[in-house]
Amino acid sequence: MGAIAAGLQACRDGIAAACQKAARDPASVALLAVSKTFPAAAVREAWQAGQTAFGESYLQEALAKQEALADLPLEWHFIGPIQSNKTRPIAEHFAWAHGVDRLKIAQRLSEARPSDLPPLNICIQVNVSGEASKHGVALGQALALAHEVAGLPRLKLRGFMAIPQETPDPAEQRSQFARLRELLEQTAGLGLDTLSMGMSSDFEAAIMEGATIVRVGSAIFGKRDYT
Ligand SMILES: *Cc1c(COP(=O)(O)O)cnc(C)c1O
Repeated sequence: MGAIAAGLQACRDGIAAACQKAARDPASVALLAVSKTFPAAAVREAWQAGQTAFGESYLQEALAKQEALADLPLEWHFIGPIQSNKTRPIAEHFAWAHGVDRLKIAQRLSEARPSDLPPLNICIQVNVSGEASKHGVALGQALALAHEVAGLPRLKLRGFMAIPQETPDPAEQRSQFARLRELLEQTAGLGLDTLSMGMSSDFEAAIMEGATIVRVGSAIFGKRDYT
């Protein structure tokens, strides 16, 4: 077994163990393989090992990879921050966008979503730690934004996404993820079903708090090299 297939298997095993601990059905947690900075060949290898959903943060890099992998039926998620001048290519080339944190970006995505594609799946990114440096709408404004985004025609609002403040303390990890879960619980009537939370170092805590998509990169593909 190659390193990527082994990483994927270890990750699936970790998700299954966390689900057992949380008394959840493992089928209720989807694994999004975060392939940013890794080459198309690595994505192809992961696909051969059964992975179909991939997350990317850098638009140009993602588009080049999509072209190189156009022969595969992959599902692409844009998980980086979204600048307004990037909304068209994101609306045209992805199935999901997880980093929506203001209405203007959502409106532009909706306007640019081609009519021959299904609605673009959206997660609103929420700043659950309150750190000034973090992207995401403030916790106190997320519900209002969700109601506005849910009304846009070419989008399908699915739920919320968060990148919490890094901490090795599982209890502190859980309390940040719990804020996102409690937010989702306040959206009755919007039909939301997604909590995109948990990465390589904290997906167990995220699953304990109800994650439905975990976004895992380095635990599958290895350490990233940004040089
Ligand atoms: C890079 C990235 C991940 C994956 O992080 P790992 O620690 O490598 O698992 C998840 N989510 C987002 C938004 C990212 O940018």
